[in-house]
Amino acid sequence: MLLLDGNATSAAIRTEIAEEVSKLKSQGKKVPHLAAILVGEDGASQTYVNAKVKACENVGFESTLVRMPAETSEEELLSTIKGLNENPNIDGFIVQLPLPKHIDEDKVTLAVAPQKDVDGFHPENVGRMSLGLPTFLPATPNGVMEMLGRYNIETVGKNCVVIGRSNIVGTPMAILMSRGTNPGNATVTLTHSRTKNLKEITLQADIIIVALGKPNFLTGEMVKQGAVVVDVGIHRIEDASKKSGFRLVGDVEFETVAPKCAAISPVPGGVGPMTIASLLQNTLKAVTMRK
Ligand code: NAD
Repeated sequence: MLLLDGNATSAAIRTEIAEEVSKLKSQGKKVPHLAAILVGEDGASQTYVNAKVKACENVGFESTLVRMPAETSEEELLSTIKGLNENPNIDGFIVQLPLPKHIDEDKVTLAVAPQKDVDGFHPENVGRMSLGLPTFLPATPNGVMEMLGRYNIETVGKNCVVIGRSNIVGTPMAILMSRGTNPGNATVTLTHSRTKNLKEITLQADIIIVALGKPNFLTGEMVKQGAVVVDVGIHRIEDASKKSGFRLVGDVEFETVAPKCAAISPVPGGVGPMTIASLLQNTLKAVTMRK
């Protein structure tokens, strides 16, 4: 069984990006600058944003964190987004989700200039992705594609089952896996909460990408021998034996699934680090696409 090591793969990508940044610097060119807007004090969101800012610093990017209080109005947030759209110093930016309930996330997504939308959430970029045109690919699905590509996982003609159809993970994942662009070239089944007989479907799968947000959902009896399993889920489970009081688990029951797999990504240390590496790749791309 091959472990799809997101930490090592992400480190390799970050080294490549750091080398590109050194080149830009030595040529006297501007280094990529990523901004992140964080509205409110949600603990998980703060952790994610801090990790993104730190990753930027580590590869030599400039980064700006815009913190706004939870009671920020939609109008104020849209005005801040407009400022970043118009700021020539900022190459790309993200608005950390989820947003407080009184702010319409769709309006916010639409307000981000597509050429600075390094999360790849703007409908224009989603459309471009669907047509296979150059664009920013959403970070998590792109991270999974990078992982499969760098581990030379064969996808051509394979049966791929994606579990979960969210806008940011499952749906773009199914599109990328079904496009004829390397490494996605599979026959894809997109499954969701209304899917019947899921186990019958997953048992046919050569590749299963799991993103439904339920701890330990995919079990060994749902997986055929020799399958490749990518676990996107991430959950904190209370665990008194840990110093932190919790441990991280995915949507896959690793203990029963791993022995049947040709390859599997663990949690933690799988897709999570790949998501951040993808964001850095998109920010570097923002600079080259603008040229
Ligand atoms: P979401 O809640 O937006 O979507 C879940 C999807 O799963 C829905 O489309 C739903 O139809 C489907 N679903 C629910 N129950 C199902 C069932 N019984 N069978 C089949 N499908 C079912 O979730 P999301 O934002 O896509 O996130 C999914 C998981 O991935 C979460 O655990 C999240 O924390 C994690 N995640 C991880 C990263 C990362 O970087 N590692 C990034 C984004 C999300």
